Amino acid sequence: MLEQQSEVAANGPVVIVGGGFTGLSAAYELALAGQRVIVLEKEDTVGGLASGFKVGEFTLERFYHHWFTNDEHVMTLVEELGVADKVVYRPTRTGMYYANTIFRLSKPMDLLKFSALKFTDRIRLGLLAVRARLIKDWRAIEHLTAREWLLRMAGPEVFRVVWEPLLAGKFGPYAEKVGAVWFWKKIALRGGSRDGEGREVLAYYQGGFPALAEAITDKIVALGGEVRTGCKVASLQVEDGQVRAVVTGAGETIPAGTVLLTQPLPLIADLLEPHTPPAYTAELRAIDYLANICLVLELDRSLSDTYWLNVNDANFPFVGVIEHTNFEPPESYGNRHIVYLSKYLPEEDALYRMDDRAVLDFSLPYLMKMFPEFRPEWVKAHHVWRARFSQPIVVPGYSRMIPAEATPLGNVSIASMAQIYPEDRGTNYAIREGRAVGKRLAAVGAEVSAEV
Ligand SMILES: Cc1cc2nc3c(=O)[nH]c(=O)nc-3n(C[C@H](O)[C@H](O)[C@H](O)COP(=O)(O)OP(=O)(O)OC[C@H]3O[C@@H](n4cnc5c(N)ncnc54)[C@H](O)[C@@H]3O)c2cc1C
Repeated sequence: MLEQQSEVAANGPVVIVGGGFTGLSAAYELALAGQRVIVLEKEDTVGGLASGFKVGEFTLERFYHHWFTNDEHVMTLVEELGVADKVVYRPTRTGMYYANTIFRLSKPMDLLKFSALKFTDRIRLGLLAVRARLIKDWRAIEHLTAREWLLRMAGPEVFRVVWEPLLAGKFGPYAEKVGAVWFWKKIALRGGSRDGEGREVLAYYQGGFPALAEAITDKIVALGGEVRTGCKVASLQVEDGQVRAVVTGAGETIPAGTVLLTQPLPLIADLLEPHTPPAYTAELRAIDYLANICLVLELDRSLSDTYWLNVNDANFPFVGVIEHTNFEPPESYGNRHIVYLSKYLPEEDALYRMDDRAVLDFSLPYLMKMFPEFRPEWVKAHHVWRARFSQPIVVPGYSRMIPAEATPLGNVSIASMAQIYPEDRGTNYAIREGRAVGKRLAAVGAEVSAEV
């Protein structure tokens, strides 16, 4: 295999499909190692799910983004790039909308006052985060669904009031299938991002996540790599079980020594389908994904003082109301107040298919119900973003479903969001996985160069 790879790798660069955080991080490692690398990104900007759009002259993420203080791979990368001073850490206010009431849930003290639960259940809810952090080996709970695990850990009342609506709101038809590991890791990691007073502290990149994607891109280019946007890879040219070139949507043929695919697994399956056994692509398609729709509102005033509001109400069509400017100040957006209404949903859902204006008209009455003072006139502009592959569905036994990095094609590897486990997807893990695969490919490349 190395012989075959040597022959091919000597003839072309490493081609990375996808300029999200995984692809860029892999390219950064390869460029650092002095390898020839080209990133091909189909959109006009880099950043993938964490890419942005313009609010006036300012850039904002299409989908809300923040980091936890324990997102160490991001922090290491920003140090290396010399941009660590752009990361800001801020305490945030979180809350829950339940039974027509907004409950503050920012600090342990708030939990004690959470009157939607009786006192012993408030303690149970609080202890869940502590107990979750004590679990070190996810294998012990991998056979359980989130429902089974949460019922065991916190009891039926906490499940009914807090977790069941959140599971249903986030996962819809998949709520009963979600694995315990996904929930456990989410609780453990989020619970670990707190200051001495127990307040949640989150991190953000000044200028937005897209600015960090640009900074990585600049570094790749400075190291001699190439990043091409507006360049969709439409097919692969394969000979003797090796990819010789990738062909773009515009019909350009780009020679490739090695290929790294970083798109969602179903899109990787589409590319590999003509060249690999059906059983292999079926395996790639076995993991389901939810889509996401975010309605982004530019308001002329603030909606509330909460950054992150979980919506525990099945009648409300969004699972989260995120007032981004209660985290990064409105001055960063020309004094506009930015609110995201987020919903994960199957792509067949009617909301996902509505046009942008219909999404707004559909949503505002719900917002008025939740915030009675809110008036539609506050909305100065709105934007709707959709992503078909937003959240892989992590089910019990997920570790056995994750495809390997290697593929049946000798010089093609995959590093995709759905391979991240036991953590949920996130830019921190995209950076971790991207850098790791980049290092491995660089090592193979170095061996090959030495042999040729
Ligand atoms: C609603 C939402 C909120 C989120 N919030 C956070 C958060 O707060 N913090 C956080 O860290 N993470 C968050 N995430 C997750 C984070 O955005 C992702 O985990 C991360 O960006 C994934 O990066 P990636 O490079 O693996 O994949 P992607 O970002 O999906 O990148 C894949 C890239 O491949 C490109 N591509 C696909 N097909 C082709 C082709 N044929 N040719 C060329 N290019 C192609 C795509 O355009 C895309 O740019 C959130 C995600 C969503 C959906």
